[in-house]
Amino acid sequence: MAGAEEELPDFSEDASGTKQEGNGEDSKAKTEAAIRASGFRDFMLQEAIMKGIVECGFEHPSEVQHACIPQAILGTDILCQAKSGMGKTAVFVLSCLQLIADKLSEKGVQVLVLGHTRELAYQIQHEFLRLGKNMEGLKIGAAYGGTSMDKDREMLKKNSPHILIGTPGRVLALMKPGKGAPKPKKGKKDEKKEGEAEAEKDEESVLSLAHLSHFIVDECDRVIDELDMRKDVQKIFIQTPKKKQVMMFSATMSDETRGICKKFMQVPHEIVVESEKKLTLDGLMQYTAALEEKQKNKKLIDMLDSLEFSQVVIFVSSVKRALALDGLLQECKFPSMTLHALPKEFAYKAKDGESLGAEHGRIERLQMFKDFRKRILVTTDIFGRGMDVEKVNIVINYDMPQDSDMYLHRVGRAGRFGTKGLAVSYVSSDKDKEVMKQVQDRFEVEIPQMPAQVDTALYLNA
Ligand code: AMP
Repeated sequence: MAGAEEELPDFSEDASGTKQEGNGEDSKAKTEAAIRASGFRDFMLQEAIMKGIVECGFEHPSEVQHACIPQAILGTDILCQAKSGMGKTAVFVLSCLQLIADKLSEKGVQVLVLGHTRELAYQIQHEFLRLGKNMEGLKIGAAYGGTSMDKDREMLKKNSPHILIGTPGRVLALMKPGKGAPKPKKGKKDEKKEGEAEAEKDEESVLSLAHLSHFIVDECDRVIDELDMRKDVQKIFIQTPKKKQVMMFSATMSDETRGICKKFMQVPHEIVVESEKKLTLDGLMQYTAALEEKQKNKKLIDMLDSLEFSQVVIFVSSVKRALALDGLLQECKFPSMTLHALPKEFAYKAKDGESLGAEHGRIERLQMFKDFRKRILVTTDIFGRGMDVEKVNIVINYDMPQDSDMYLHRVGRAGRFGTKGLAVSYVSSDKDKEVMKQVQDRFEVEIPQMPAQVDTALYLNA
């Protein structure tokens, strides 16, 4: 493999500003060693994976990658709380790729990654595809609601992947043996879960996790805290071999959730953020705007007119409000979209060529935004966690989130991976004020009123 190695740029020779000058040979050697230590090369990943890292433009591992990857590639269980947007997906993607690299000839799903929404599953799948693209024979599959179960079945039967990424409801549905299997009782909430209804058809189970060796849950507090989803995860978990590696990740995690997560693990390597203060993103400028509900639209339009943005995400509290606000912005000729489908009766409102009628799924819409075909996204909290769109530099809480956890996740959509960003929250009710106070107390930040003019240098990357 020496040939392949030579083709790769060597991170250790990266003349990043960390080099010290004129301190003699000894100090030069020390500096170089330090630089080398900060490189991905030290993780001793396979060359094909290193090639993927270089092609993705990753130069140095982030803090969370440093803290987790060396342990993860030893097969240790990992429970990791890390800032959003600082590369935690790549922790489990790179580790899993390394761990299965020599086992691609073996049959069956070896890695299962669960996320709480189809958008997150889709995004994780793409991170695997990007970083694993040079691994010959590697097969990656995804299974989530909103798409055809028959296609998932076909994929699993004909071309079973080594790595499967999915939402708990759909994965569980695919594991259920159809014929003679107990069907959910009518009226039970479970019945309505994404993808499960179709599992009621008489079909044989196509997904076996008998050979699974790595079980990963992303945004694990969201998955564990929601009882229905936790039950699904438990049902999936008990059908996997006892001996396996378990990794769970989130930016937020209460002590109680942490305790529940640990029940899935054996002596995990825990990454805990000691102070919540450290959870807020360094390059993110945060402001509030105190106003009345009826002033929100004018304020928003003024802001969109005056601020410089690459892409903006506007959070609202319901799908109905997302559709209404998106409609208003489009009428005002802003390049706006939403992840949610217009109800059929309003489908005629969708514009030619960019029609966002019911026939467009959420994934297609997400891709549209990621591809920069629209610059403003109006959405509910389904976009609030884990979503990574590089060009988003402004987040607006048109409606305040319900709690400080969600605030942190939402504003983390801007200022990702050390870039600058701006987050503005509209505070109109007493409840909004309360949440804003919780945010400031918990993360020990002072979030001032937005000034009439915001200096672009504060939120635009040079
Ligand atoms: P995540 O926090 O996993 O959503 O990652 C945020 C963004 O950072 C994604 O676009 C990743 O592809 C990117 N990223 C992850 N690790 C690195 C790295 N070491 N260097 C540069 N970018 C990275």
